[in-house]
Formats: sequence, structure tokens, C-alpha cells
Amino acid sequence: MTASFSNLSLAEPLARAVAEMGYESMTPIQAQAIPVVLTGKDVMGAAQTGTGKTAAFSLPLLQRLLKHENTSTSPARHPVRALVLLPTRELADQVAQQIKLYAKYTQMRSAVVFGGMDMKPQTLELKRGVEILVATPGRLLDHIEAKNAVLNQVEYVVLDEADRMLDIGFLPDLQRILSFLPKQRTTLLFSATFSPEIKRLAGSYLQDPITIEVARPNETASTVEQRFYAAQDDDKRRVVKAVLNQRGIKQAFIFVNSKLGCGRLARSLEREGLKTAALHGDKSQDERLKALEAFKKGEVDLLVCTDVAARGLDIKDVPAVFNFDVPFNAEDYVHRIGRTGRAGASGLAVTLVSPSDMRLVADIEKLIKTKLEVETYPLEDERSRGHFSEGRPDSRGDGRGERRTDERRPERRPERGFERRRDEEDPRDRRSSFRPAQVSRDPFFEKPYEAPTAEQASAASWEASAKTVASRPGLSANIKPKRKVAALFKADESLKP
Ligand code: AMP
Repeated sequence: MTASFSNLSLAEPLARAVAEMGYESMTPIQAQAIPVVLTGKDVMGAAQTGTGKTAAFSLPLLQRLLKHENTSTSPARHPVRALVLLPTRELADQVAQQIKLYAKYTQMRSAVVFGGMDMKPQTLELKRGVEILVATPGRLLDHIEAKNAVLNQVEYVVLDEADRMLDIGFLPDLQRILSFLPKQRTTLLFSATFSPEIKRLAGSYLQDPITIEVARPNETASTVEQRFYAAQDDDKRRVVKAVLNQRGIKQAFIFVNSKLGCGRLARSLEREGLKTAALHGDKSQDERLKALEAFKKGEVDLLVCTDVAARGLDIKDVPAVFNFDVPFNAEDYVHRIGRTGRAGASGLAVTLVSPSDMRLVADIEKLIKTKLEVETYPLEDERSRGHFSEGRPDSRGDGRGERRTDERRPERRPERGFERRRDEEDPRDRRSSFRPAQVSRDPFFEKPYEAPTAEQASAASWEASAKTVASRPGLSANIKPKRKVAALFKADESLKP
């Protein structure tokens, strides 16, 4: 049974905006969350971007705030009453645009603030008064410190993509921001997964939340064929190429765990004749956009990326995802493979497992509650040509990885340990290193943003076929085109592919 918006008794201006958007029925998260948010209860929602979750929280929130609606020009009559926090500028901008559309027939004012932009225009907007403020945590703190944003009348706070915010290292910022808010408020937390950290956050800041799950948390799409192949590090590229050839796959994401590994792998795949680009935290905004657009246009076949760099990219329905490295964090596995097999399309997720990775595979098994079989990928032809793997037989002799630690590991660990601290984007490292969030934050989020041109923004063929319920509007005027990237922030040349 499909739930209709007409059953909600939304105020006329909101119902009109929804009708104008062309929404015919509610998405599952909307059908479940809207009635609860309308009651003013706290919500802990498991839902990803693309499920209609923005409307799920913003429509009821607007409805409840309508009692404050007024046409006064006095800023004092327009205090911030709802705060929506998101991890990236792209997501903040997307959500702010949607809220503007839902609120367009009301007198409610909304604004978005995020880093990498001049504070002045944001300050002017804040000083005029806004009821709904969408923000990334770092920039919001800047505005709070500059006394541009006063949050003592906030009634609603939405922690959107909360798992991502924690992964990026925003917890201290979130804690500070929440300390400025009145205790009496409604808190809505949305996260793709309910990790122990998320549950802890919810335990500290939500009161008797109603849990809403549109799909089981940590569930992987049933349309994704998941394969785990045992592979020594030096064999992994060959497995990737063999799978691509055998399956006739034209494009894929290849996930790695480190920035250094990302650049290296992209370079070697390129040398092997594959059209490849790298996306990692040391790439400038401009380089990332170029890589992404080249991928969308089909000029690049393989996009090698780290988890942090892939975040905030609205890319779904890639034919295949490779986990060249097994993610350190099992939840990243769910996020990574969620890029394929969307909207009923079948997708392939291949994870390459070296013997020392078996503990991480066990973590994934536990998280997705599925027994995973690590198979051997037949590479005999190439082996017989004699250019690989000699003297490095699989330690069990059957090509499968082991749960035990590989003998090679002690030799490799010191080097990798050193690399990890400097180059890898493993959030667990950040959490344990007690470094301030500012230091560990992905520099991408601190850089000026350059909007893609209309031509660049045109959807890739696999995106066009996606079941996007309504077309996502382009980036707004909030994101200025053609700002120069400061030379200081330029990517390390040595890391470029
Ligand atoms: P979100 O998950 O909030 O980012 O929404 C993803 C897309 O779904 C946006 O482009 C929305 O405009 C669209 N959308 C949200 N709710 C509905 C609905 N009930 N019917 C059709 N499209 C929707």
C-alpha cells in the first residue's frame, strides 16, 4: 500500500509545494518518520541519501514551525529555530535547496553555511534572521564564535548523515554545537548505519527516540553480487583486470585504504593501459571534479578512490565496485558496495582479500550477518607465463586466505604503520590518536568549491537510468564557480597519478 501525502493534513503551503514537486506518494522513510516528527518526538532514523529523507524531516519540521511564521523585517522575529547539520558542503547545499523548495510558499527563511566560502555573505544572511539553518559543523562554529549565529531558540536539531560526521572527526564539533542548544528540543538523527558510536551519540543527545528503519541497518542490497577473492597484494591488479574482462564490465570504482596506495594503484593501472583516475583527500577540489566528470563522461573507466574522497559524491549505480583493500571499518564495506546494484540494477562487488585481511572479512560477516566465502580466482594462464607470484605461494596452498596472521606481516607492519599515520584515512586511527578534529579533517572540505559547468554536470549514462524519484537540482548559487584554489592547498605532486 502506498501512503499519500494527503493523509498527513499538511498545511496548505507545504502541501502545495509537495504537489509542485510532483511527489505522488510518500517514500518508506517519509511514511514512517513524518507522523512521528509531527508529534515532536526524537527520532533515530536509519536511511541513506536518496530515500527521500530530507522531506521526511523537513516537512514535519516546517509544519511545526509554521506557528512562528511572520512577515516582520526585524531579525529578532526570525531566530534560528531549526538546525540541520551535515558532513559535507555538497550535502548541505543539496539539503538546503530542498528545504527552500518545501518552504517556498511559507514565510519561513532558510540559509546554508559551509566552509571554503567567504563568511561575509553568510553573515549578512544570518544577521537578517533565518528560521532554518543548514550547516556543516566547522563553519557553524566559526559563525557561533563570531556571534553571527545565536542558537538559544533552536527547537529542532537534525544530525543528518551522522555516521559520516563521526567518520570525518566532527564529534568534538558536534558536542560543542549541541552544548549551545536549549535542552528542551527535538533531536532527529539520521545515519546509514547504527554503529556503536552512533548509538553512543544517540544515547547522549536523544531522549527516548523512536527508531525508524526503512531497511535493516547495515543491510547490503540483494541486487549486489558479492564476491571475495583471495589475492596476494601483487596479484590484485591482475584479478581486477581479469574480472573486468570476463564480465565485460566497462566502468568501476576501486576502493583503497590509503591516499598513497590510491595514487600508486591509479598510476600502475594507467601504465597497464586502463583509463584511470584517482580520487583522494590530497587531490584539490578541481582535480576531484575533473576526475569525476571524466568518469561520468566515460573518458575514465576506473576511479580509484579512498572512502573519505568518495563521500559526498552523488554517484550511484556504478556497474562494479572493487575493494582493492578490505576496508578497516566494516561499515565502509556497506557504503562502498552501496554504490552498485541500486534501483534494481544488478551490480558486482569484488573484494580482494590477502591472508592478513581475514579478520576484517570476519568483521564484515558479522556486520552484514552473512557467511562469506573467500574464493580463489583462477589466474593460472598468467601464472604459467611465469611473471608472477613465484616464491609467494598462498600459505595454505589452496589459494584461500587464512584467519591467521600472515608471516609476511611483521616485516610489512612497521612500514605500513608509519604510512597509516601519515597517509591513510582510517577514521579509527583518528579516533585513537587524540588529535583535534581540525587536523584530521579531510582538507577537501576546507577548500573553495568549484561548481561543475552545465555540460559537466550532465548525468552519466548509468546515472540517467537510475531510479531517481525526482531530478536532483544542480548546485545552487551558494557554491560560486571559478574560485581559485589556493596554491597552498594544492595536491602533493608526488601523489598525483
Ligand atoms: P533525499 O533522500 O532527501 O536526498 O531525496 C532524494 C530525491 O528524492 C530528491 O530529489 C527528492 O526531491 C526526491 N523525493 C523525495 N521524496 C519524494 C517522494 N515522496 N516522491 C518522489 N520523489 C521524492
